[in-house]
Amino acid sequence: MTYLRSTVGGSFCSCGACNPPPALSRRQFLCTTAATAVAASTVIGTAGAQQPGGATAPGRAILIKGGCVLTLDRAVGDFEQADVLIEGGKISAVRPNISAPNAEVIDAARMIVAPGFVDTHRHMWQGILRNVLPDGSLDDYRTVVQRTFGAKYTPDDVYAGDLFSALGAVDSGVTCVLDWSHIHNTPDHTDAAIKALAESGVRAVFAYGNPQNETGRYWEMTGHKFPDDIARLRKQYFSSDDQLLTLYMAAPSASPELILGAFKAARDVGARISIHVGVGEFGRSALLEKLNAQNALKSDTTYIHCCTLNDTEWKLIRDTGGTISIAGYVETLMGHGNPPTQKAIDTGIRPSLSVDVETSVPNDFFQQMRTIFSLQKNEVWARRLAGDKNPPKFLTVREVLEFATIEGARANGLERKIGTLTPGKDADIILLRTDRLNVMPMNNAVGAVVTSMGPQNVDTVLIAGKVMKRNGQLVGVDFERLTRLGNEARDRLYANANVKNVRI
Ligand SMILES: [Zn+2]
Repeated sequence: MTYLRSTVGGSFCSCGACNPPPALSRRQFLCTTAATAVAASTVIGTAGAQQPGGATAPGRAILIKGGCVLTLDRAVGDFEQADVLIEGGKISAVRPNISAPNAEVIDAARMIVAPGFVDTHRHMWQGILRNVLPDGSLDDYRTVVQRTFGAKYTPDDVYAGDLFSALGAVDSGVTCVLDWSHIHNTPDHTDAAIKALAESGVRAVFAYGNPQNETGRYWEMTGHKFPDDIARLRKQYFSSDDQLLTLYMAAPSASPELILGAFKAARDVGARISIHVGVGEFGRSALLEKLNAQNALKSDTTYIHCCTLNDTEWKLIRDTGGTISIAGYVETLMGHGNPPTQKAIDTGIRPSLSVDVETSVPNDFFQQMRTIFSLQKNEVWARRLAGDKNPPKFLTVREVLEFATIEGARANGLERKIGTLTPGKDADIILLRTDRLNVMPMNNAVGAVVTSMGPQNVDTVLIAGKVMKRNGQLVGVDFERLTRLGNEARDRLYANANVKNVRI
């Protein structure tokens, strides 16, 4: 049984074997949910039948036929040509020449079949603020995005931002994303974020975080319920782990006391934790040593950035079994410090990757992979040129692809469900076109994905066996209405924040 999404009223199953009550079917749910300014519920789900390729019949087995299959599971191996059978939303077989006469066939000739990318940290509420800060530093980001816009966000703005970010992720082959959500100015903001994630169909980890205000001192605000509202969220939306949305705590960048309070609220409801550490000068405060003195570091925590941590802190992450998330592109842009890929490897930690902010960073994972690949190699070359006789090894493209998939799944607490094309795991799968001029003629499949491809190669996307994108187009998304929703939200936000919208 696969629960495809958590809804405001609970979960429903679309595996086809069960018969959900009609009132909870996906389309009906989406069509009867309260609307935002543009009828948001009609953005997704109503145009599915008219989309090129269309959705596959729910519950029917799917056979992905004749692709170059990168399972990234060393026990299963990769195949120059093989089939992937999906039954009940899960991968049931990967091998050449599978016979499944009743399955719906997706032709994967001239495609690479791979696990979907897994992003471990993205502030999705900012999906309506894309490219607002192309030249900005971290200080500019705090001033403009958090304290000017964030302080004025309405729940409808959160809904629109999350929806855009989620659909953009799916469109570019990111099938699972951790929404590092620090826009919870009221509980209504929280409900709006979760609603958008649920409606988008992406597999999401909702990491519940602090509110925003003009001063950055959120603890002086009234009206918010951070961090204790996580108990309500657990009960209302996340009572099952067998669904597309799972729950984390996004611990604040604040005093150790406030951080410890958030850690406790998370662990009281069995939620894993994600926290920014080692960011610029601010990150040199030995925070992890202080938290460790309170026995607060455990294997349930993902540490983001880690650029300016000291050696003791690195060892603490490793020894307590933590995971890390490197947002390489933004770290080079905004002054976090060098992306610590080599430091992580030296310490014995395999990193995951993340987009972080779409306000200055492209939303796809090809950019993320190439950024850390070239920076790590540059670092090794620099050491060689400086006379280092024992430099580290160069990263390989396969390692980078693993960081973008299975290591992401691990940091998102989902390695048993996703991250490789292993029989028994959920079918989160992308099909990447090799008959495009940026990669043809193809000579090396992993090399093509990591060094040459882009979002334009993402032909088909499945999440838990549901076809989300087919023949290069999102399935069931009304683009005209989506555009209107985004434009209205952006214009409303600029007006509320009293910012003049200068678009060039
Ligand atoms: Zn961040």
